[in-house]
Amino acid sequence: MLLDYNSLLLAVGFSAACLSLTLFGTWLTARSDRFLLTWATSVLVVVAEVFVYNAYIDAPGTALGILALALLLFGFSVMLGAAHQFRTGRSPLPRITLGTAISFALALPPMALGYDGLGFMIENFLAALLLFGTAHEYWKGREEAPAQLVGVALLYSLTAVSFVLCAAVLAWDRKLILGHAPSNWAEDLSLVIVIASMTGIGALSLALNQGRLARHHKHEAETDVLTGLLNRRALFDLHGKTPVSAFTAVVVFDLDGFKAINDQFGHAAGDEVLKVFAQVLSADLRPSDSVARMGGEEFAMVLRRTLPETAEATAERVRAAFAARIVETETGPLRCTVSAGFAFGNSDGMSFDKVLSAADKALYAAKRGGRNRVLDFRRAG
Ligand code: GH3
Ligand code: MG
Ligand code: MG
Repeated sequence: MLLDYNSLLLAVGFSAACLSLTLFGTWLTARSDRFLLTWATSVLVVVAEVFVYNAYIDAPGTALGILALALLLFGFSVMLGAAHQFRTGRSPLPRITLGTAISFALALPPMALGYDGLGFMIENFLAALLLFGTAHEYWKGREEAPAQLVGVALLYSLTAVSFVLCAAVLAWDRKLILGHAPSNWAEDLSLVIVIASMTGIGALSLALNQGRLARHHKHEAETDVLTGLLNRRALFDLHGKTPVSAFTAVVVFDLDGFKAINDQFGHAAGDEVLKVFAQVLSADLRPSDSVARMGGEEFAMVLRRTLPETAEATAERVRAAFAARIVETETGPLRCTVSAGFAFGNSDGMSFDKVLSAADKALYAAKRGGRNRVLDFRRAG
């Protein structure tokens, strides 16, 4: 080997320390991603193990041996917890506790009794199990970002296999008592694999986290905070660039006398009314339909593969359901109504803007006609 085992081990320790720092740093900029903190902690524990183990190589002793084993198994249990937290968003504690308890109970007693060979064998085997478990968590969550997550799962599995080899070589030698740190080809190979996988896992996971943040920001940018519906921009992103066919309807809704509701019941009550209307609007949607809050008390609905009767019936259902609804507010119950106008594209494909303004014209005709009604653009006059 070009480098001796100790130097390589220290290299692992230092690069793991850097990875842990990077993870802490990333967590600081995105506090909501708690798994980063768990993961950074797990890597930090492994760093501590590396330095303790390095000391053990130079001066083997029961206390150092126990400490090294305990740190590695605890570190890998935390890593498993972090993977679970990454996938599910749930607490990592049950897995950390269970992994630590079981692995300590199995690996530490032999070491404490002087059977260091047996202790290391069990440690390697358990470390492999914990790493396979971690790989399995990422594998189960692969739908989110298949290439990256399958990559992470493979790298954890590869590392796990290298620990299985370490356990197997020790089992093959059948030495229950070694008196020194295990030193064989499997240990060397494992260290090289750990260095390679750690770099890969670090890079892939940070990319994953970036992707998550980007999706989160995109979602926030596209969502209306009050109602949770799409906002105007998102609706235009979705429909703005495709020509509207003769079988696609755009319906616009505007609450009636909403200013008076705000004046009479207060702004908070007005907000409540907007939320209730958003619920009514979203009820019974087909997967191909979309609804959005366009701003203020104006909403839009895009119905694909639909006919004028169906579009009118859908808008009418929303109108009637909302009119029948008593909205409970802090200042007392109230009723509100909504007017709607709708228009279709044509067989040549109309621009979304044009269809929207046609629907708007129908809406204003509905307002002029006395409100609380739905009007077809073709009959708006
Ligand atoms: P019309 O029947 O003609 O539509 O009358 P209107 O009072 O509903 O229409 P107008 O455009 O005069 O008033 C709209 C009001 O909506 C004015 C504005 O203060 C209120 N508004 C806009 N956004 C919000 C909001 O987010 N929350 C609340 N509570 N009110 C809002
Ligand atoms: Mg309005
Ligand atoms: Mg209004």
